[in-house]
Amino acid sequence: MTTVALTEPEIFDLTRSCLLANGCNEANADAAARTLSSAEACRAISHGLFRLPGYVAALRTGKANGHAVPREEHLTSAAIRLDGDRGFAPLAIEYGTPLLASAAAESGVAVLLIRNSFHFAALWPEVEALAAQNLVGLACTVHTPMMAPFGAKKAFFSTNPISFAYPRPGRDPYVFDMATAAKARGDVGIAARDGHPLPPGTGLDADGNPTTDAKKVHDGGVLLPFGGYKGSVIATMIELLAAGLVGDYFSYEAGKINTDGPPAMGGEFILAMSPEVLAGPGWADHSDAFLTELESMEGIRLPGQRRFEARRSTDPITVNAELVDTIRNLTSP
Ligand code: NDP
Repeated sequence: MTTVALTEPEIFDLTRSCLLANGCNEANADAAARTLSSAEACRAISHGLFRLPGYVAALRTGKANGHAVPREEHLTSAAIRLDGDRGFAPLAIEYGTPLLASAAAESGVAVLLIRNSFHFAALWPEVEALAAQNLVGLACTVHTPMMAPFGAKKAFFSTNPISFAYPRPGRDPYVFDMATAAKARGDVGIAARDGHPLPPGTGLDADGNPTTDAKKVHDGGVLLPFGGYKGSVIATMIELLAAGLVGDYFSYEAGKINTDGPPAMGGEFILAMSPEVLAGPGWADHSDAFLTELESMEGIRLPGQRRFEARRSTDPITVNAELVDTIRNLTSP
């Protein structure tokens, strides 16, 4: 595979220009470009530029609104519903996070329910933005069926990601961000593209047989939940939070109306909690002592650490050269 070396600002500019050329206004292009370029800086390649052709396709068909203006409705002092106006989620998230943060700081707990937007990205930016304000964050979303519930062979859930961040003032927060599928579909797509096998237990082929062939899982097969029935019940909880409680599509509903490929319309559930209000003074030292104890154990690393180190690295970011050419062609059609 041929690669090119780019800096994060170059990736931001490449993404922004491409989105502007395809119908986004500046606010929408900037928010999506920040999300995609930060994923590349974190070396999370399945949620960086790899996604951009999908964003462009959604703009070109008119499915996504490149001029979206998010609108909030305060259901109570601690519950905010945000209409994403059929735009890409990064703008809705950037718009809604300060509202959520101030509601959580006031009430101790608050929730942001995002409807009517296209979530196609990693979920750490929303929870890290909360942790940066000394709030605990939990976020989840759904899209279209790609994963079989435990015991089944047909897709019913999407890959249903969930992220969580716990602030550690003066240090990197504790953050995990993961699909509840054994592997995110983007990573399966990259393994299929690059000819790499999948770990056993990742998916089934089109006939419902277990396979480690990424192409067979990606093209017509299904993913499996991580951890058997335990992953399956967490995926169910995510459907109920991000669709049932938010009042947007469950994966199986989105699958029926989204017939032209990703991204799909879906809801996002974001919960914010204030340790200052809930645990009271001393929370930071108390929790930090626990996490320090945990990370001092042999063989342990905290989730998020690989990403934080990648983000701090001054090494150039290597990107698939063919993908960069595709993006340049999409920018100057
Ligand atoms: P991974 O399995 O790569 O990682 C999941 C989490 O586990 C990360 O926080 C990671 O931290 C942490 N981790 C990995 N290895 C270790 C270890 N040895 N010890 C401790 N922690 C560890 O993620 P997934 O493949 O499941 O998901 C990838 C991305 O895909 C996520 O960002 C997710 O949000 C996104 N996604 C988005 C969807 C959408 O619809 N928008 C759908 C599905 C997935 P670290 O990052 O530091 O390695």
